[in-house]
Amino acid sequence: MKEDYYDILGVSKGASAAEIKKAYRKKALEYHPDKNPGDAKAEEMFKKAAEAYEVLSDPDKKAKYDQFGHAAFEGGGFGGGGMNMEDIFSQFGDIFGSAFGGGFSGFGGFGGGQRRVKGSNLRIRVKLTLEEVANGVEKKVKVKRKLQADGVTYKTCPTCGGSGQVTKIANTILGRMQTSTTCSTCGGTGQVIDHRPSGADTHGLKTVEETVSIKIPPGVEDGMQLKVSGKGNGAPGNGIPGDLLVAIETEEHSTLKREGDNLHYDLYISISEAVLGSSKEIDTVGGKVRIKLEPGIQSGKILRLRGKGIQSLNGYGSGDLLVHVNVWTPKELTREQREFFERMQNDENFVPRPEKSDKSFFEKVKDMFS
Ligand SMILES: [Zn+2]
Repeated sequence: MKEDYYDILGVSKGASAAEIKKAYRKKALEYHPDKNPGDAKAEEMFKKAAEAYEVLSDPDKKAKYDQFGHAAFEGGGFGGGGMNMEDIFSQFGDIFGSAFGGGFSGFGGFGGGQRRVKGSNLRIRVKLTLEEVANGVEKKVKVKRKLQADGVTYKTCPTCGGSGQVTKIANTILGRMQTSTTCSTCGGTGQVIDHRPSGADTHGLKTVEETVSIKIPPGVEDGMQLKVSGKGNGAPGNGIPGDLLVAIETEEHSTLKREGDNLHYDLYISISEAVLGSSKEIDTVGGKVRIKLEPGIQSGKILRLRGKGIQSLNGYGSGDLLVHVNVWTPKELTREQREFFERMQNDENFVPRPEKSDKSFFEKVKDMFS
């Protein structure tokens, strides 16, 4: 059972944005890895607080969380789950200004100021059909990643001796001041390249093409971003790779229109099909389906195919497919057809007599408010 985000930050459910921010600032300062070197428990708390803040500081995510709890973010790695240190430190610009030295390039100093550098993130776009969105899909994409070249070796940085920090002592009017700065030789990693194979860059990295498999959960929407951890560019030395960020793009379907988790389909039938009844084939995200139309079906009727919509991203069931029945009125008639309809003009079977179930749209709306 995941801990409640409000409990983690120690605020009430009705806390204001300012209170949430203040509570997070306090927790982050308390559990910051620089203050608790090597303390796995503190690091865990630090990450939990950051995840809670990420959700509760975003009005959209907060609303989802308030409504669905943790289930709102399951199944896709969106929002809440799986924050890494880089994400957390990138939050800090907003909250703490430069309190933690701004230019964090990677992991905080676990064990003596040395930083594990994180490789840069890679970004790709993935285009999905409506069927893929509805059912979820596994996409294999080719990605050009920079990874440590075969045969590359690193050695301890001679400038800082592996600590990643250099200490300077300066005489000032206040006395002797000791300042620590990131080692410029190794960029704080504590390691420099030893053997550089041909084709590798100055960091010992080489571009390779790799096929990455991306699991996309059902129900995603255009513009969403998915993260595949550790599939970005590699880092030199004992650094860790960045992430692969996947931007979701969705294609329009030729006949099905999406609205939330529901789908809409416009069905056109002839007057004779409406009068005599018919069976029609329609598109669904699971392939073609045949539906039966009762004799005397009215134009404007909406047939609801339960569960034939899009599977919900938060895991709560599926939407429906709404089939809108439109009766097509012919614009041209033969003399024979015209005579037939003229004869029917005063026929009592052709006089509209809407029943309660055939209520017009306006009446339905009126009912909703009464
Ligand atoms: Zn160094």
